[in-house]
Amino acid sequence: MQFAGSHILSVTQFERADVERIFSVADRMEPYAQRRRVTKVLDGAILGSMFFEPSTRTRVSFGSAFNLLGGEVRETTGIENSAIAKGESLYDTARVLSGYSDVIAMRHPAAGSVAEFAAASRVPVINGGDGANEHPSQALLDLYTIKKELAGRGRGIDGLRIAMVGDLRFGRTVHSLCKLLCLFQRVQVVLVSPAELRMPGEIVEDLRGAGHEVLESDALEASIAHVDIVYSTRIQEERFSSQQEADLYRGRFRLNQSIYTQHCEPNTVIMHPLPRDSRETARELDDDLNDNPNLAIFRQTDNGVLVRMALFALVLEVAEQVDAHARDVNWYTAGRF
Ligand code: ASP
Repeated sequence: MQFAGSHILSVTQFERADVERIFSVADRMEPYAQRRRVTKVLDGAILGSMFFEPSTRTRVSFGSAFNLLGGEVRETTGIENSAIAKGESLYDTARVLSGYSDVIAMRHPAAGSVAEFAAASRVPVINGGDGANEHPSQALLDLYTIKKELAGRGRGIDGLRIAMVGDLRFGRTVHSLCKLLCLFQRVQVVLVSPAELRMPGEIVEDLRGAGHEVLESDALEASIAHVDIVYSTRIQEERFSSQQEADLYRGRFRLNQSIYTQHCEPNTVIMHPLPRDSRETARELDDDLNDNPNLAIFRQTDNGVLVRMALFALVLEVAEQVDAHARDVNWYTAGRF
């Protein structure tokens, strides 16, 4: 695809070569994300960061990624703080705010809303999550993490064996990840969820249509026995009609160190898009996994910055100029990465 000036709304807009291009630019962002070098390639550029639904990681990592490229961030958070609360349409908001920014990262509770906003925007818009629909930058960082984690184990994305566990109905990260996996070869996907929270049928069909093997199950232990990756997710309680309904499913699948030791192959990688729900009633990934070296959740969040830097660099067409605007840092940076 042509990245320059494009919106990033869904992973379905990518070919495999596009994903590989994003990953190779992300690799080159490491010295900047690790604070060994600084670049000013986006000096003067402004990111409109518009998060109309709760977010910590995605919002802050889009902002950090933009800052790390030398740009500035303007934030709007929460529908209640914006003119949308006064009845303004997405069209009008997009026309106005795209006059104030060079690129916009946006999250909104309604599926399709970011695409509607993008259609009226004068600058590229990156989807930071639209309802239960998609979360393309998360799927890219998840796949980038999978690639890096498996490289050291002599395995790759082609031939990957992955179990996705939890709320597969409302979890937008697993929707986008499955669609992205359709670009690769011979993937085995085990979908573990309560019957009511199964992966949408059309996404399962897409996986099968790509030649992948798909198994659906409601039993955690048997499903994680022969996979490279266990990708756990939170019950998306904000998408249920009531708290009581969400409570029916919370805590159904809990992975802890003892289950991991008994059932997983050695070195099975554990992932989660975060936030993990650490309340006693949930604990889909127990804190006793924190010292397990295969717990990749914080490597995922670090990788998120690299992938989002790559997206900005490609969309704003500076990927080849980053190093020309760079210097070493002169403050203490050791030990964080
Ligand atoms: N942070 C992810 C999302 O926004 C996952 C989650 O909230 O459970 O979709």
